[in-house]
Amino acid sequence: MTKQGIGTRCVQAGYTPENGGPRQIPIIQSTTFKYDTSEDMGRLFDLEESGYFYSRLQNPTCDHVAAKIAAMEGGTAGMLTSSGQAANLFAIFNICEAGDHIVASSSIYGGTYNLIKVTMAKMGIESTFVSPDASEEELDAAFRPNTKAMFGESIANPALTVLDIEAFAAAAHRHGVPLIVDNTFPTPVNLRPIEWGADIVTHSTTKYMDGHGAAVGGAIVDSGNFDWMAHREKFPGLTSPDASYHGIIYAQKFGQGGAFITKATSQLMRDLGCVQSPQSAFYLNLGLESLHVRMPRHVENGLAVAQFLEEHPLVAKVNYPHLPSSPYYQRAKKYMPDGGCGVVSFELSGGRKMAEAFMKKLKLAAIETHVADARTCCLNPATSTHRQMSDEELIQAGVPAGLVRMSCGLEDKEDLIADLEQALAQCGLQGTL
Ligand SMILES: *Cc1c(COP(=O)(O)O)cnc(C)c1O
Repeated sequence: MTKQGIGTRCVQAGYTPENGGPRQIPIIQSTTFKYDTSEDMGRLFDLEESGYFYSRLQNPTCDHVAAKIAAMEGGTAGMLTSSGQAANLFAIFNICEAGDHIVASSSIYGGTYNLIKVTMAKMGIESTFVSPDASEEELDAAFRPNTKAMFGESIANPALTVLDIEAFAAAAHRHGVPLIVDNTFPTPVNLRPIEWGADIVTHSTTKYMDGHGAAVGGAIVDSGNFDWMAHREKFPGLTSPDASYHGIIYAQKFGQGGAFITKATSQLMRDLGCVQSPQSAFYLNLGLESLHVRMPRHVENGLAVAQFLEEHPLVAKVNYPHLPSSPYYQRAKKYMPDGGCGVVSFELSGGRKMAEAFMKKLKLAAIETHVADARTCCLNPATSTHRQMSDEELIQAGVPAGLVRMSCGLEDKEDLIADLEQALAQCGLQGTL
């Protein structure tokens, strides 16, 4: 069968009702599941049969939604997690342990940077950060014999750099490790990293996938393309017997397409418990059903706002990969011909003072620590998320004091531009220049 279009997968994949069954994915709001005999349940505990026994490990509602996301990304298996942070933690920790090392793009979400740089270091996992624009030689130089994974974001939050997925995948594969790509910003509607060589894809479903600011969540998808058995010595967790499951070998028992997610579920979810609730998974699915309809509008609004800002005399710089003036334009066109996302960042010419005044004047765009929502929101990192940093430190971190991040929602672009126009006009009048 030829693969269905991405829109059809958004709407239909992951759940087919039985004759007379509920049309909508049922919310199985149950922590536990009942069996007639202990032997029946024992087979599940031994991973001899698949089924449900406790919602910390698996729940039917979450599994349907995970299967949909896996289908959307073109993977072989998927799982939901309690948040995007948990998705990246699990994706990395499933193949790395104390004494191992990972190579990551330096242009990634702040939470993920801290996770890798600080928290993973405390767990004994070392890291090397590379520029998303590193040359082949620079990428190769970052690998060590104990490197177990490479990590990057397809469009980075908030830097809006675009990852050269083919180059990163080639480097990872030259060194016998998988490439993990956080695909939160473009979503599989605009970019499917597996088609470009990524092995594992992660998401903060809190963003566009949910799209309505309703539920925090995450997801992991395995491409099924990485041959763990060909690199047995690097990945003993997948290729040697698991003492906690009577010595099964994941890559043998569940195959190349099932091993990664089965191990992450049966070990990491069992032991760490970062589970998504069935209720949240239900909300997430409602978002997924319209994702292919919403993303083009986010893209249309993002581009219109970026173009407007680029022409405005009070705006010093605009970051949006699909603007022809962006250094990432060629890469953005290659990987995302239909556009990337609705997030734009821009620097006001009057620095911190102007940014502060500007934010106060916005009427439609709300001040929020959030992105990728149906409603447009804005953030000035210098006066909020990064307020402990000096102007000098902010420049070094790539978030100058006058930088504003705007996540364009689903409103009419004319109204978004009018809001920006009036706020900028008032800043100009007040002589904050
Ligand atoms: C928000 C975000 C995360 C973290 O996700 P949460 O759901 O907030 O835990 C990870 N990666 C990217 C790219 C994000 O934007």
